Amino acid sequence: MTKSPAALSLTGLTKRFGAMTAVDDISIDIREGEFFTIVGPSGSGKSTLVRLLAGLEAPTSGRLHLRGLDITAMPANRRPTAMVFQSLALFDHRSVGQNIEFAMKMKGVAPEARRLRALELLRLVRLPESYYARPVTQCSGGERQRVALARALGSDPEILFFDEPLSAIDYRLRKTLEVELKELHQRTGKTFIYITHSLEEAMVLSDRIAIMRAGRFEQIGTPDEIYRHPTSRFVASFMGEVNILAVSQTPAGPVFADLDCAAPEAAGAFAVLRPESLRPDASAPVTFAATVTQKLMLGSRTQFHLRAGQAALIAEIAAGSGASLSLGETARFGFDPADIAWVQA
Ligand code: ADP
Ligand code: MG
Repeated sequence: MTKSPAALSLTGLTKRFGAMTAVDDISIDIREGEFFTIVGPSGSGKSTLVRLLAGLEAPTSGRLHLRGLDITAMPANRRPTAMVFQSLALFDHRSVGQNIEFAMKMKGVAPEARRLRALELLRLVRLPESYYARPVTQCSGGERQRVALARALGSDPEILFFDEPLSAIDYRLRKTLEVELKELHQRTGKTFIYITHSLEEAMVLSDRIAIMRAGRFEQIGTPDEIYRHPTSRFVASFMGEVNILAVSQTPAGPVFADLDCAAPEAAGAFAVLRPESLRPDASAPVTFAATVTQKLMLGSRTQFHLRAGQAALIAEIAAGSGASLSLGETARFGFDPADIAWVQA
């Protein structure tokens, strides 16, 4: 059986700026049609990496192959890739149609063919055809983002790069655009390489996620693998609403430090416990007393913010499970150690 070459193959890709190593010896194959997301804090090297992939920056060392073809030295404008930026770098003094047709015009596509393709792309990004002649200055933030997407698709790229395209957009619109982006990925079947500092956004969008730290990939996996089995405290800390419990050794054995209750084993430095694994249940294998400091209705679930000694914890309980705790109430909460993901610092 022959394996088709990766859409994009990175081999020892490295970028140094003086003494600073922004991208540190990264090797990975990105599959054809994959939605691959890179998540990491500010300064971890995400933009530098994607600029290397797009050809906007030359690597200090390492190789880059596109479907088996070495493109390490190929200039950006000759690569079959396109970039969608956070800054929504549209031409403000031009119409929506002119923006979308930009790359086609550069390639010498005839005006009528360009117009037809632009109208097709407007439909693809769910904008009415009447927007074709509209100045981009008369578009809302979400519409501009859709125009930017259509413009990137206008060059008919094989791979699309996104550098935090939704980070400047407010929550509700961002949620809408996330869904649209995912649908667009499914409709086009193209390879998407996406950068975000939000693991939550990555979870919604991606086939596979790489967590980036100081120029390296700390963990690579499907959203489910990352969520269930984070391999480090750094990765777990990106998950937002999870409980990270330190374990300390005492003469009597290991304990969950903040909870003041016995830990089953000191299998790792930290226990990661998801909110849905923590419940008001005095008969759970591990229990402790906690006070409800906040109670939030999340539709299908109720979220409890808890205080237990020095620890602030989050528990989520399915609606209709009969758990009726009120704000300020103290109760015994518990969990099954089997639900813990053990991680190192
Ligand atoms: P991110 O996108 O994850 O926030 P960047 O890739 O922008 O991270 O930056 C990674 C590191 O490389 C940072 O320390 C940044 O200051 C440095 N860096 C990025 N571009 C340059 C450059 N052109 N010259 C010098 N240092 C740079
Ligand atoms: Mg960046």
